[in-house]
Amino acid sequence: MSQAPSGSQPWICPRCEETVDDDPASSRTQGDESRPAIYVCPACGTDETFLHEAGKDLPGPDAWPLKRRYGLGGQSLDSSGA
Ligand SMILES: [Zn+2]
Repeated sequence: MSQAPSGSQPWICPRCEETVDDDPASSRTQGDESRPAIYVCPACGTDETFLHEAGKDLPGPDAWPLKRRYGLGGQSLDSSGA
Protein backbone atom coordinates (compact mmCIF):
# COMPACT_ATOMS: atom_id res chain seq x y z
CA MET A 1 0.00 0.00 0.00
CA SER A 2 1.44 3.31 -0.89
CA GLN A 3 -0.15 6.19 0.79
CA ALA A 4 0.30 9.74 -0.30
CA PRO A 5 2.48 11.66 2.08
CA SER A 6 0.92 14.67 3.62
CA GLY A 7 2.29 18.14 3.31
CA SER A 8 1.49 18.67 6.94
CA GLN A 9 4.46 16.73 8.21
CA PRO A 10 7.94 16.06 6.85
CA TRP A 11 8.45 13.00 4.70
CA ILE A 12 11.34 11.63 2.71
CA CYS A 13 11.17 11.65 -1.04
CA PRO A 14 12.23 8.22 -2.33
CA ARG A 15 13.69 9.73 -5.47
CA CYS A 16 16.13 12.23 -4.01
CA GLU A 17 16.06 11.21 -0.34
CA GLU A 18 15.48 14.77 0.68
CA THR A 19 13.23 15.46 3.61
CA VAL A 20 10.47 17.70 2.46
CA ASP A 21 7.23 19.01 3.80
CA ASP A 22 5.62 19.89 0.53
CA ASP A 23 2.64 18.16 -0.97
CA PRO A 24 3.80 15.24 -3.09
CA ALA A 25 3.67 14.70 -6.80
CA SER A 26 3.07 11.25 -8.25
CA SER A 27 6.01 9.94 -10.20
CA ARG A 28 5.68 9.75 -13.94
CA THR A 29 7.51 6.45 -13.86
CA GLN A 30 4.42 4.81 -12.44
CA GLY A 31 1.95 5.51 -15.14
CA ASP A 32 -0.35 2.53 -15.28
CA GLU A 33 -2.59 0.42 -13.13
CA SER A 34 -0.09 -2.38 -12.68
CA ARG A 35 2.32 -0.02 -11.02
CA PRO A 36 0.94 1.74 -7.99
CA ALA A 37 1.70 5.39 -7.60
CA ILE A 38 4.93 6.45 -6.01
CA TYR A 39 4.96 9.86 -4.50
CA VAL A 40 7.92 12.11 -4.98
CA CYS A 41 8.69 15.65 -3.93
CA PRO A 42 7.62 18.54 -6.15
CA ALA A 43 11.21 19.12 -7.22
CA CYS A 44 11.49 15.56 -8.45
CA GLY A 45 8.13 15.87 -10.12
CA THR A 46 9.47 18.88 -11.97
CA ASP A 47 12.64 16.98 -12.74
CA GLU A 48 10.67 14.19 -14.33
CA THR A 49 8.58 16.65 -16.27
CA PHE A 50 11.67 18.23 -17.77
CA LEU A 51 13.14 14.86 -18.66
CA HIS A 52 9.86 13.74 -20.17
CA GLU A 53 9.47 16.88 -22.22
CA ALA A 54 13.06 16.60 -23.36
CA GLY A 55 12.28 13.13 -24.66
CA LYS A 56 14.68 11.48 -22.24
CA ASP A 57 14.18 8.24 -20.40
CA LEU A 58 13.03 8.61 -16.85
CA PRO A 59 15.14 6.72 -14.37
CA GLY A 60 12.76 4.45 -12.53
CA PRO A 61 12.69 3.56 -8.86
CA ASP A 62 15.34 0.91 -9.44
CA ALA A 63 17.77 3.71 -10.16
CA TRP A 64 16.78 5.87 -7.23
CA PRO A 65 17.88 7.79 -5.28
CA LEU A 66 18.95 10.42 -7.72
CA LYS A 67 20.37 13.86 -7.49
CA ARG A 68 17.89 16.50 -8.33
CA ARG A 69 18.85 18.03 -11.60
CA TYR A 70 16.31 20.37 -13.03
CA GLY A 71 13.79 21.03 -10.35
CA LEU A 72 16.04 23.04 -8.12
CA GLY A 73 19.24 24.94 -8.48
CA GLY A 74 18.78 26.11 -12.02
CA GLN A 75 17.14 24.61 -15.03
CA SER A 76 19.98 23.82 -17.35
CA LEU A 77 18.71 21.38 -19.89
CA ASP A 78 20.85 23.04 -22.53
CA SER A 79 24.13 22.36 -20.81
CA SER A 80 23.54 18.63 -20.59
CA GLY A 81 23.26 18.03 -24.30
CA ALA A 82 25.88 18.06 -27.03
ZN1 LIG B 1 12.63 14.29 -4.51
